[in-house]
Amino acid sequence: MAEKIPYKIYLSENELPTAWYNVRADMKNKPAPLLNPATGKPMTFEELRPVFCDELIKQELNDTDAYIAIPDGIREFYKMYRPAPLVRAYCLEKKLGTPAKIYYKFEGNNTSGSHKLNSAIAQAYYAKQQGLKGVTTETGAGQWGTALSMACSYFDLDCQVYMVKVSYEQKPFRREVMRTYGAAVTPSPSETTEVGRKILAAHPGTGGSLGCAISEAVEAATKQEGYRYVLGSVLNQVLLHQTVIGLETMTAMDKYGIKPDVIIGCAGGGSNLGGLISPFMGRKLRGEADYQFIAVEPASCPSLTRGSYVYDFCDTGHVCPLAKMYTLGSEFMPSPNHAGGLRYHGMSSILSQLYDDKLIEARSVEQTSVFAAAQEFARVEGILPAPESSHAIRVAIDEALKCKETGEEKTILFGLTGTGYFDMYAYKAFNDGSMSDYIPTDAEIAESLAKTPKL
Ligand SMILES: *Cc1c(COP(=O)(O)O)cnc(C)c1O
Repeated sequence: MAEKIPYKIYLSENELPTAWYNVRADMKNKPAPLLNPATGKPMTFEELRPVFCDELIKQELNDTDAYIAIPDGIREFYKMYRPAPLVRAYCLEKKLGTPAKIYYKFEGNNTSGSHKLNSAIAQAYYAKQQGLKGVTTETGAGQWGTALSMACSYFDLDCQVYMVKVSYEQKPFRREVMRTYGAAVTPSPSETTEVGRKILAAHPGTGGSLGCAISEAVEAATKQEGYRYVLGSVLNQVLLHQTVIGLETMTAMDKYGIKPDVIIGCAGGGSNLGGLISPFMGRKLRGEADYQFIAVEPASCPSLTRGSYVYDFCDTGHVCPLAKMYTLGSEFMPSPNHAGGLRYHGMSSILSQLYDDKLIEARSVEQTSVFAAAQEFARVEGILPAPESSHAIRVAIDEALKCKETGEEKTILFGLTGTGYFDMYAYKAFNDGSMSDYIPTDAEIAESLAKTPKL
């Protein structure tokens, strides 16, 4: 008889990956390069140097090396909270009455409460190696800012965070975690940057957006000696660091001879989904195995399912290079929803290309159905999931219920990216029955897309 799969599959420290996997090496159609908005030509290493750390630019531009070694300095930090457990959701399966087998990779076991620490520590490490004084960044819901402040305090780097103003006001506890780790937190848009002052003049009283905060953080980095800008999602380098999630998952599954049929993740900028699926996608691209991949996004910010695949600005102030991606337009303002980490207007270039090549699918889901899934999950599996992660839970449950109808015994894997303790206002709205499900109209999306740059 086959060995019973344990509730939690833990790997040992020695099984931590020694290299990240760069899926671009196995992609036939490479993701489109970043373009210089002034020349329309691909951004070079030299052009990116004033903004990003040198080693991270090399990773950003590297389409050829399949494996990039994880430096010992980063692995040492990973050992404090990794390998992350792969959990068999026996209790959820039983509750649903499904013949499907459900697994989730849990990334919420650290103070920042999400997978973002996997890339934060890598980016802080390379900034330190380069002898920099500090880094600047933006944060929306606050998970990335928290992760980065933890990483910077570990390496004794200065950390300046521009936090979207509405979140700054709504999530004072996130702000205090960041300050406890030594970060300086500024609500964005602010008077401290030129671009912030411009945005404030044009939109007085605005609550800000991720796109605004990015513009401010980039300006702050380029105007201070010894500072660079770092970003928590979207970029190739971030997706690369997050492959530690997929590599551990693959090792754990291979050990027990488990093969996932469907792999599901929520997609904001695409880093956790890209990180989870990369090694599996590598097998698919090399013709070694096949999997169904599903990206899940909020119906209020549907970049893959309703956006266009074009070059667009990455930020509201248009200070960043242009990226080719599925986008809703850089001026798209998603309705205030409760999954702040999924409110970005664009999507990772890597995932955009894979989606355009029909190698991954995408679904959009409405907020109340997401929280219903979150509640169902929390009640049987114990963990209180982040609203972002709950998008993946929604589709995992939907797939498991389909199996119940058809009798298929599919193996479903999803990424549980984090915990939701700082999202209790969102849970409150759901519990009170006052949560809304705003979905943008075609006209709203078309208006925003009309403002993408003409090349
Ligand atoms: C930021 C965040 C996300 C979305 O970001 P990706 O880059 O798409 O992974 C998802 N879940 C949590 C908990 C987050 O903090």
